[in-house]
Amino acid sequence: MIAVSAWAPHAAAVKLDGMSPLRTDTFDLGGLRLTSGEGRRLDLHVAIEPFSLAGESYPVRPEPVPVRLDISRTTGDGYALRLRFDASLTGPCMRCLEPAEPQFTVDVREVSQPTDHRVSPVAPGARGRAKREDSDDELTSPYVEDGVLNLRAWARDALALSVPANLLCRPDCAGLCPVCGANLNDAGAEHQHEQAPDPRWAALSELRFE
Ligand SMILES: [Zn+2]
Ligand SMILES: [Zn+2]
Repeated sequence: MIAVSAWAPHAAAVKLDGMSPLRTDTFDLGGLRLTSGEGRRLDLHVAIEPFSLAGESYPVRPEPVPVRLDISRTTGDGYALRLRFDASLTGPCMRCLEPAEPQFTVDVREVSQPTDHRVSPVAPGARGRAKREDSDDELTSPYVEDGVLNLRAWARDALALSVPANLLCRPDCAGLCPVCGANLNDAGAEHQHEQAPDPRWAALSELRFE
């Protein structure tokens, strides 16, 4: 009943040998023909370009990223959109330089609502179209234009907002020893140089005298 050009409903579930799932760059919201209050949940795949951080390239995994898109038609001829996915960036830890793959959970929303107070310049012959369809230049979300969602741009921006300034192999990465450059994650807490006596020695001596 619905012609959805950008949506291959089975692509998300199928992963054949050597075949990647279909990727969705843009999605035609209007093609869903949702009525006011109606919603639709879609599982899609989006290709997200690598991030360039601190001179290093951090590809996004998995490739492409499975995403869940919830679309609701609002009463005001607009859309309420929710996008959720998990993705990780792969590259060197910015503290210890070992391979890192920090994972991020993205859950973002967009509302794309026609600005009904504005009189839009409707071309002759197109009268009424802007009201009935989701269309045209009245939508306010930067990712929705003419009823088409730029899923790829939205997913990338949303992930970018989740990425911290420091990409670490783990939140408590101990980094490198400032004295000898040893990886302190491997060297352990006992890695010390002369000037810093290990506090556990003090504790041990206390025990002995109890
Ligand atoms: Zn690290
Ligand atoms: Zn050291």
